[in-house]
Amino acid sequence: MALYAAAAAVLAGVESRQGSIKGLVYSSGFQNVKQLYALVCETQRYSAVLDAVIASAGLLRAEKKLRPHLAKVLVYELLLGKGFRGGGGRWKPMLSRHQARLKAELARLKVHRGVSRNEDLLEVESRPGSASQVPRFVRVNTLKTCCDDVVDYFKRRGFSYQGRASSLDDLRVLKGKHFLLDPLLPELLVFPAQTDLHEHPLYQAGHFILQDKASCLPAMLLAAPPGSHVIDACAAPGNKTSHLAALLKNQGKIFAFDLDAKRLASMATLLARAGVSCCELAEEDFLTVSPSDPRYCQVRYILLDPSCSGSGMLTRQLEEPGAGTPSKERLRALAGFQQRALCHALTFPSLQRLVYSTCSLCQEENEDVVQGALQQNPGAFRLVPVLPSWPHRGLSTFPGAEHCLRASPETTLTGGFFIAVIERVEVPSSVSQAEALAPELMPSPAPKRKKRRRKAAAGASTLPGT
Ligand code: SAM
Repeated sequence: MALYAAAAAVLAGVESRQGSIKGLVYSSGFQNVKQLYALVCETQRYSAVLDAVIASAGLLRAEKKLRPHLAKVLVYELLLGKGFRGGGGRWKPMLSRHQARLKAELARLKVHRGVSRNEDLLEVESRPGSASQVPRFVRVNTLKTCCDDVVDYFKRRGFSYQGRASSLDDLRVLKGKHFLLDPLLPELLVFPAQTDLHEHPLYQAGHFILQDKASCLPAMLLAAPPGSHVIDACAAPGNKTSHLAALLKNQGKIFAFDLDAKRLASMATLLARAGVSCCELAEEDFLTVSPSDPRYCQVRYILLDPSCSGSGMLTRQLEEPGAGTPSKERLRALAGFQQRALCHALTFPSLQRLVYSTCSLCQEENEDVVQGALQQNPGAFRLVPVLPSWPHRGLSTFPGAEHCLRASPETTLTGGFFIAVIERVEVPSSVSQAEALAPELMPSPAPKRKKRRRKAAAGASTLPGT
């Protein structure tokens, strides 16, 4: 396949969520993968600029046979790239006919934005509030250490500690070797955006977890006290589970389910590294977990963070800007699963409080799922108004949707996220008064099933199959 056709096919595949740029380039069969990858990435980087130029030049209206992705690649080569390195074939004369108009539109765009160089048209990505400017959040793992010790450690290594931030503005201006405590979450340190701590020994030892602030909210808002029994319905790779365990102080029980054996294996490693000892992992479809199983009779808290389109994920926004919208079919399938999982979770007889979260920006996976589940259980559950000062709320698609939280790089300096806290309206009859008042005094549930279950314990090998 010719270079430009291959690049157009990869761009189309990325847009319809068939895979990542890298994956599609490798599976394209095109010989010079490096050349193809570079062309696709560059075209994607300038995607918004190219769309604007192509539209205002009326290229697709004039050339009916030219498909949009191919047009984008060709116009990139013509205006911003190194000329037609792939020869251009039959497209070259066609594009040449429009060259003057395309160049004029690019020039007009630069004048309009007050910039002189092509690269300056990209500047918006590096402005505060864009995905690349989201700070590095570090959740201190209180099962292994405490905030003061981690702060001291970084101070001894030349970082300057600024104390607790008073607002998001303090996070916006964070630079160099400065760090501070998040204004909202008690054990969350904040470093400048580009700080890479993946190789840091404290991270490797599980003393802190690299976790976006928005992703720390579900466990915090579930607010399960130590001693509680909690279900983490779609748990792998386990960042929220380890946060739950820390908030429970390893007292009580977390039943963590996931379908994916590989993700569960890395989760077992992560939990062991984090010193989690109150969690039982099961490779199981949450939809088939029986709410009437006596093991779950004390489960009052459920965290449901199901598979989603990931359209709010920072890595996705940075690597593939503009590719955030999943196809309609995928969205329908995901929303269907999310709705079933949420309705299933609401059937656990002792459930009092549930947090539903996704890293998606799509209403179909968020407000619509929550609204659907509440409608299926009229009067039984309600949305809890949480974090009144949180600036980004649920879309007003139904009364009360503003109780939900949304998050984004622009509004909350985090990845894109959605959270709904749902509470049972009345204490269910299956929970006795004594149980409701003093859950930690209640007896443990029936012994756990051996098959495909692992108890995560610090230092223990908990990998399935080992
Ligand atoms: N909560 C996790 C965390 O914070 O690390 C992330 C969960 S991820 C968004 C969704 C997970 O749901 C995936 O690991 C996927 O394998 C799992 N999953 C999908 N369908 C499932 C099902 N029917 N039952 C249990 N887990 C499921």
